Amino acid sequence: MSSDRRRAEKAARIRTLLDTESDSVAANATHLNDRRYEALDELGPERYEELRSTVREIKEDAIERLPTLLDQLRASVEANDGELFVAADAAEATEYVTSVCAAVDAESVVKSKSMTTEEIEVNAALEANGLDVHETDLGELVIQIAGETPSHLIGPGFHKSRAEIARLFNEVFDPEEPLETPEELTAFARDYLAERIEAADVGMTGANFVVAETGTLVLVTNEGNARKVVESTNHHVAVTGIEKVLPTLASVRPFVELIGRTATGQSAAIYNTLISGPVDSPPVPTEDSDAERTFHLVLIDNGRSEMRDDPDLRETLYCIRCGACNNVCANFQGVGGHGFGGETYTGGIGTGWEAGVHGLDSAGEMNDYCTGCSRCEPACPVKIDIPWINTVVRDRVNAGDDPDAFDFLVDGLTPDVQSGGMDLQKRFFGNFPTLAKVGSLTAPASNWLAGTDTARALLESSFGVDGRRELPRFRRETLVKWFDRRATTDPQSPEREAVLYPDPYTNHVAVERGKAAVRTLEALGVAVTVPSLPPSGRAPLSQGMITTARQRATDLWGAVVDDLRAGRDLVVVEPSTLAMFHRDYEHLLSADRFDSLSDNSYELVEYVFGLLENGADSTALVGPDPDGDTTAVYHSHCQQRTLGLEAHTVAVLEDLGYDVTTTDVECCGMAGSFGYKREYYELSIHLGEQVAWQLRAANSQRVLASGTSCVDQIDSVLDATPRHPIELIAPR
Ligand code: SF4
Repeated sequence: MSSDRRRAEKAARIRTLLDTESDSVAANATHLNDRRYEALDELGPERYEELRSTVREIKEDAIERLPTLLDQLRASVEANDGELFVAADAAEATEYVTSVCAAVDAESVVKSKSMTTEEIEVNAALEANGLDVHETDLGELVIQIAGETPSHLIGPGFHKSRAEIARLFNEVFDPEEPLETPEELTAFARDYLAERIEAADVGMTGANFVVAETGTLVLVTNEGNARKVVESTNHHVAVTGIEKVLPTLASVRPFVELIGRTATGQSAAIYNTLISGPVDSPPVPTEDSDAERTFHLVLIDNGRSEMRDDPDLRETLYCIRCGACNNVCANFQGVGGHGFGGETYTGGIGTGWEAGVHGLDSAGEMNDYCTGCSRCEPACPVKIDIPWINTVVRDRVNAGDDPDAFDFLVDGLTPDVQSGGMDLQKRFFGNFPTLAKVGSLTAPASNWLAGTDTARALLESSFGVDGRRELPRFRRETLVKWFDRRATTDPQSPEREAVLYPDPYTNHVAVERGKAAVRTLEALGVAVTVPSLPPSGRAPLSQGMITTARQRATDLWGAVVDDLRAGRDLVVVEPSTLAMFHRDYEHLLSADRFDSLSDNSYELVEYVFGLLENGADSTALVGPDPDGDTTAVYHSHCQQRTLGLEAHTVAVLEDLGYDVTTTDVECCGMAGSFGYKREYYELSIHLGEQVAWQLRAANSQRVLASGTSCVDQIDSVLDATPRHPIELIAPR
């Protein structure tokens, strides 16, 4: 199938999901995000960070010592009169579970929610062997009777509204009185499931954690169904991944403190159940007078050992499956787990899991939904660098593409392009710095040509650039050229010296923004230079071209090292570039180079904030007329928020006399190239509308946004052209 056709089909699928599942997904995700933010506020940022560091350390240690802990766990489980089976893959696991059921002549199995059992498709295997399988988690029950797959790590029926669930229950169960309210639905499900649980022979659960020291399973639920299926049946089969093993009972506590908060915004889940071996209660009476309780722990490998040996995928195994990275992901809020796809796992960390347990084909499709907005990183209780995992998987997917696809843009020929094939769309966006250079050199002809119908049609069919998006207009005189040409007004004895980094967009397109930055810094006593510097590698990295990005990072380091050593600061206009210096370069440069760059680079308004804090004269900047309209509404770039730098801009604006309202949408949905891509255009606009709604509600004439992407997106969805904050406060 041609790329053009594939894109059209994907766009159509997204459109359907936006029409059918988006409202429920967005409402559920927003609800859980609000609760998580509240629960974490209550916990306090220091305690949150302390707990995150603790659980991260425990997981790092547990995965490092995994073979030893598994041996210890086996001894503990056997000492508790249970049995432990480690399954190499899904087939071995389902065979074992089926044999346990056959050995006790089971006819029916009741299950509590477990994504690992979804991964091995145990229901299908049991049903093929004539067993009745009943899901007892309410969401799983909904999915089971609907014949669907879960769309979220902890909320299988996340994509369904109450009305849809009521319709489904009324159709499937045909109750005497139609069910409507949540209470009616829950009460019906409780009675229905109680009968199945009572009649079942085998109870299956997953496990949130397994303790090597004691052989204890820790089950964290809100419905209490897990303990019920264990207590009410004589044979308990617990299925979970080998990565769930923790060393000691004491090590479980910080996880329990975090998982309720990040999963559902509760200080603790309602049921935290600890089970060590067969439960002590007397066996459930059966026809067999010798009936006894048994316990089988089935640990699934299914690719996890290889993930452990893979330095980039390894940290996926630290995941405690709280689902926070699903909820916080803007694209997930748009199309939900069914949009992302994946054989079992979806959204956020789903790419890492799918790449590890099902392979790149399953991971590749959903991977493109990751825009690198990075909002999942602070949401993750185990500090997993999810954006980097997604980048690595994208890089691996690229390497597997057609190696014969033709190379283009000789000047932009990159190591990734030379080493293998990639789709043209990724090459196009990964080479933006080259395009920008050519665009400025040939402007205004380049701008005219890009606007013609022929060029737009070619861009859409060949490179997947959506024809409805306005393209950047390149400036003939770049920021660097302007700076070289102008008479500099270096302060006599500058407070600081700074290099303003001319990222490709500021240098070639948003030149006025760059000029405003220069004027502001100079007015605050900074000696500024704007040298021609290599691109940061942001564009290729966003397309999964890691080799190219690493080369760019190395080149940039070489170009700025003398300035850094001379004590000059590196000031960055574009937050996504700063995110490269502060986060991504950790993977691309040696530790000392990364430290030097990240310690000495600053977001532009953060830098202004620092200057004002250190006594610079704020009257040099432009505030509002105190007798006029002082309002401003500000949308901070997603990566800027992840770096904790939104507050600096707000503080500077407030210091100058503006009354500032901020948006709280996680990401505007533009995300660099994402919103330009034909298949994602409508999803991107859908997310942009959420920002527009909040901006309109603020009812201010001053609309501000800090990222290039955000400015472009807001410009598309609002009847107001936003400005970067620096353009508001810069001296004229
Ligand atoms: S990656 Fe982190 S945030 Fe996402 S589900 Fe796993 S633990 Fe939760």
